[in-house]
Amino acid sequence: MTTSHLQTLHWITRSLAGDEPLAERLHTMLVKLRASLPYAEARVIVLQTPAWSYCLPNQRTPSWAAHWTEEMLAARAPVTRSAGQQQHYLGWPICQDEELLGAVELWVVTEELDQSCIPLLDALVPLLAMTIQAEATRGLSQTTSQLAALQELQEQLDAPCLLAPLALTVTEWVQTHCAAQQALLHVIQDGRSSLLSFVGAAYDQVDTVATTTVLAHSAMHHSTALMHRNGNGLECALPLRVGRETVGALVVIGRGLRRESGELLYAAATLIGPALRRAVVYQQMADKEQQLARILSNLPTGLALTDREGLLLQSNPAWAHLWGVPETTIQGGQLVPWDMFEPLLPRLPDPIAFDQFFRHTEGAVWDATLQLQEPYQLLRILRIPLLDALGQRSLTLFVLTDITREREAERAKTEFVSVVSHELRTPLTSILGYTELLRARDFAPAERFELLDTVWRQATHLSSLVEDLLNVSRIDAGRITLSRWVLSLRQLVTELIAQMNKQLDHRHQLLLDIPAQLPPVYADRDRVRQILSNLLSNAIKYSPDGGEIVLRAEVLSTPPPSAPALPPEPALLITVRDPGIGIDPAEQQRIFERFYRVDNSNTRRIGGSGLGLSITKALVELHGGRLWVSSEAGEGSTFAFTLPLASDVVHTTNGYL
Ligand code: ADP
Repeated sequence: MTTSHLQTLHWITRSLAGDEPLAERLHTMLVKLRASLPYAEARVIVLQTPAWSYCLPNQRTPSWAAHWTEEMLAARAPVTRSAGQQQHYLGWPICQDEELLGAVELWVVTEELDQSCIPLLDALVPLLAMTIQAEATRGLSQTTSQLAALQELQEQLDAPCLLAPLALTVTEWVQTHCAAQQALLHVIQDGRSSLLSFVGAAYDQVDTVATTTVLAHSAMHHSTALMHRNGNGLECALPLRVGRETVGALVVIGRGLRRESGELLYAAATLIGPALRRAVVYQQMADKEQQLARILSNLPTGLALTDREGLLLQSNPAWAHLWGVPETTIQGGQLVPWDMFEPLLPRLPDPIAFDQFFRHTEGAVWDATLQLQEPYQLLRILRIPLLDALGQRSLTLFVLTDITREREAERAKTEFVSVVSHELRTPLTSILGYTELLRARDFAPAERFELLDTVWRQATHLSSLVEDLLNVSRIDAGRITLSRWVLSLRQLVTELIAQMNKQLDHRHQLLLDIPAQLPPVYADRDRVRQILSNLLSNAIKYSPDGGEIVLRAEVLSTPPPSAPALPPEPALLITVRDPGIGIDPAEQQRIFERFYRVDNSNTRRIGGSGLGLSITKALVELHGGRLWVSSEAGEGSTFAFTLPLASDVVHTTNGYL
């Protein structure tokens, strides 16, 4: 060591032993050191509680982590290495009996690096260690007001809360009691990789978050409070811990922050750690609960949980929706099913059995299918007995699914096979039989004509069945497009009736009730013909004793009581009334289903494929209209449908064109 180095060491020893605040003594030390060791930048880190550093020249925004050399800290041994841009880094840990008390860091221009200064630094470190230790023993006891502030914080933290309210409590407390301008709460999430940062209660992205995150990470990494002084004042980061586990960090920024504030913050951090851990757990639970609630409320399956007495504890929106009752009807604490299902009563085929199903909640899992009427609906209910989390209370979970369509599809499939085998085979057999006969021998012309006529009628029947099947598949594939024109229904109907009347025997009469000045509709001519002829031929077919069949058309003014909800557009109402066998009310919804046929001796005798009405309904709806029926068994039926009126109608003095 040179004489001038010894002189420097002497001055430094004297200045460190002074009574001024430590930061001032360190400042003097660094100034004096420069005389023997012309560094570009220097910093002394003091690992007190909280830790802090002193830099020369006073840097505005030095990055704590960048200057803190992990290598040096880990090895607890000096480090000298190139620091790029012709600079050298010298880092000396300050240790005492294996305990790390801080570090001295110097950045020296390589050209000016004089190896003889190394012994000076070696000698300086024990001096600094002594000074820091002496400073630590001075300590600062908490004042009464600080204790009161901590007590207040503890009380606030005792209340269970989620992350955002906790962050608000903490940051407000810090701002009130520690002369801080800003406080941020960083919460570790996904292990150590990412931080959720709160400024007040808001999860925020302000710039301060980014700059303070580095300090927070350092404090958490070293499990020590760090204080960093820069041109903006003090930034202090305190790790928040529960035992050995770090759960986050509190960063406090303020010009007026003093060492006493640091002490108070350190004490506060020991309270905030466990509270933050609790809040993280609550938050996770709340998030999970919310996710589950979202899943349940969007689930198309109805779910309900009841207690032993059958009281409803919880249900999701699909539960009410599938029963067809408003959600408001279903409230927790109500008895299942009477209070809840009162509006459902008229639809239940056996209310007593239904009630029993809900009351009998013991035993094994029960799987039941329930058929509701008007509208027809098939529901599958699973009744699953459960125990609550403590294994004490018995609960029952009901799982409800609508299987109407599923069953309908199954039925349609079976019906399809039987229709194909029966409806196709019957005409085919007679066609084959008659043609065989015609080939085998000669017939008199009249007889021959009769046989050929039968063959022709059966072939026509076959062709219309094939056409119906094709129509069904076109409807399914969405391949039916309408070619719509403004057309006069009266004219179309008159032509159709004239044609049909020719084929009728004397038992049936087709009557028309259409006003001469009926406005035109906007529709596809061929499809409207198909709709009308399906309804008229059904009316004839299902009136085996004959009688008058009346086709009526009028402008729809007030919808008839039997009508479903109708679109608001102006429309024509067309009805086909027959005096036939009628349809039982329970069947009226279902006859529009594909392949559905009312099963009774009459209909079995009459025969059919069960496709006509499903096609007719699809065609009416393609036009934007609705089709429905009102009927009584044995009293005849009235099928009604609407067709939209043409909007831009040319009106002449004689009526509508
Ligand atoms: P299909 O007549 O070929 O059986 P539809 O789809 O046209 O098929 O009719 C379905 C069922 O609706 C019929 O099987 C019949 O039971 C009933 N139905 C249709 N129209 C009438 C009517 N006018 N009167 C009585 N029952 C009818």
